[in-house]
Amino acid sequence: MLFQSRKITVIPGDGIGPEVVAAALKVIEATGVSLEPEIRQAGATVFARGIESGVPPETVESIERTKVVLKGPLETPIGHGNKSANVTLRTLFETFANLRPVRELPGVTTPFTGRKLDIVIVRENVEDLYTGIEYMQTPGVAQALKIISRAGCERIVELAFEFAIAAGRKRVHCATKANILKLTEGMLQHTFEEIAKEYPTIEAKHILIDNCAHQLAMRPEQFDVIVTTNMNGDILSDLTSGLTGGLGFAPSANVGSDVAIFEAVHGSAPDIAGKNIANPTAIILSGAMMLRHIGEGRAANDIEQAVLVTLESGVRSADMAGSARPSSTAEFADEIISNLGKTSDAGAAREFEPVKLPPRRAEVASVSVGTRLVTGVDVYIESTLQPDELGDELMALSAATSFALQAITNRGNTVYPAMGRSVSLVDHYRCRFLAKSRSTDVGDPEILALLTRIGDVHRWMHVEKLHLFDGDDGFSRTAK
Ligand code: NAP
Repeated sequence: MLFQSRKITVIPGDGIGPEVVAAALKVIEATGVSLEPEIRQAGATVFARGIESGVPPETVESIERTKVVLKGPLETPIGHGNKSANVTLRTLFETFANLRPVRELPGVTTPFTGRKLDIVIVRENVEDLYTGIEYMQTPGVAQALKIISRAGCERIVELAFEFAIAAGRKRVHCATKANILKLTEGMLQHTFEEIAKEYPTIEAKHILIDNCAHQLAMRPEQFDVIVTTNMNGDILSDLTSGLTGGLGFAPSANVGSDVAIFEAVHGSAPDIAGKNIANPTAIILSGAMMLRHIGEGRAANDIEQAVLVTLESGVRSADMAGSARPSSTAEFADEIISNLGKTSDAGAAREFEPVKLPPRRAEVASVSVGTRLVTGVDVYIESTLQPDELGDELMALSAATSFALQAITNRGNTVYPAMGRSVSLVDHYRCRFLAKSRSTDVGDPEILALLTRIGDVHRWMHVEKLHLFDGDDGFSRTAK
């Protein structure tokens, strides 16, 4: 039988990327797994060619074919203009989940050494504030949209549970800020609580994100798998990396329904680039995750065990050598290779089943409801009037329309009707108009009539319909 090697796309990346990726490829090759790496570019060299996305067509074409990427860090250009090539890759291939495992490593001493930490953060990777949709609503007030979808919550929660099952883990926490952001963060909590019922063998717990950060600093050993939204996950996963020795040791996988991208968590570390002193552990462990993903579990376990044995034997890269003689990047990789096949004192490798990935859906995801009603509008107005002056004007302007002004808020504080306390104000008012007849659906002509009357006198920059879906408010209440 002709043995076919598996093609993967390899992006060496910027800064220390080429050195650590070369080390990882050498270790992978030494396991005996037959891979055919297609070397492609992304990042700084690509921006320098004038390609604004940082990812050229030949790289996209290779990934579309191989579906599996081992990637070095990519420099993000600073300032306006170019996008991050990492974000381009994540969105192009819809790698909706970011998996960040951390575990206690022998000889990597931290304040938590001895507690046997072994935690995986499952971070939603494409929604939330990181869709990057931002507006200057007035010259002095900026807005970013936090977009969370039911479909996005379902697939990240399913993946977290499927991963827990596949990795023989016992507990999944869902960390959200649902107490404040009831509709967005709350959607992840509710979805989690529903889907958890389908996984009775896994203990499922909701935790508020701030308490989760506190608990991670106090009793991190209570956590096993944590699923969370994009920005929360970004912060928590760096925190957990810090608990176990820092970025030099933190691997990651960006997983989608079709494509998976494996990379170290650290960046291009330009200060140590080209010196052959970078720690390659993170990308080597990312390589092990990649091997497991493509069904080479034995080789993945071998690499993870060899990394542990190497650290147990006292071999150290420059970032953790202290006064001992440090091994270069290449020497460190060679030590790992010489330890392939050995078993660590830290315990045998974890047994993994293949992870069942939620399939990509061809249809547009939507949630059907029995009834929907537009019951009012929020109109955002730029104004330097005091709230009572603005409120009285809007009352008069809307008198002959289908709406009555209910309240005006300024960055969330209700300022009209006056609440009897002084609030520092900016020129950005949310003016909530409710339909005079609350049981009938307000049509666009009525909304446009209101906007026209307001627009004759004031600058408005944004309008939002207030929906009732199946009788439930589809908007947050104004604070009393
Ligand atoms: P960084 O590259 O992770 O480096 C921060 C510091 O951490 C380095 O100066 C170095 O510190 C240490 N370090 C990181 N990785 C190391 C390793 N493997 N071995 C030894 N030391 C290591 O973070 P940054 O300076 O904030 O970012 C630099 C560039 O990388 C930026 O353009 C950023 O956008 C990009 N970045 C890319 C990714 C990615 O592609 N996924 C992720 C993060 C950042 P000392 O030598 O000073 O001890």
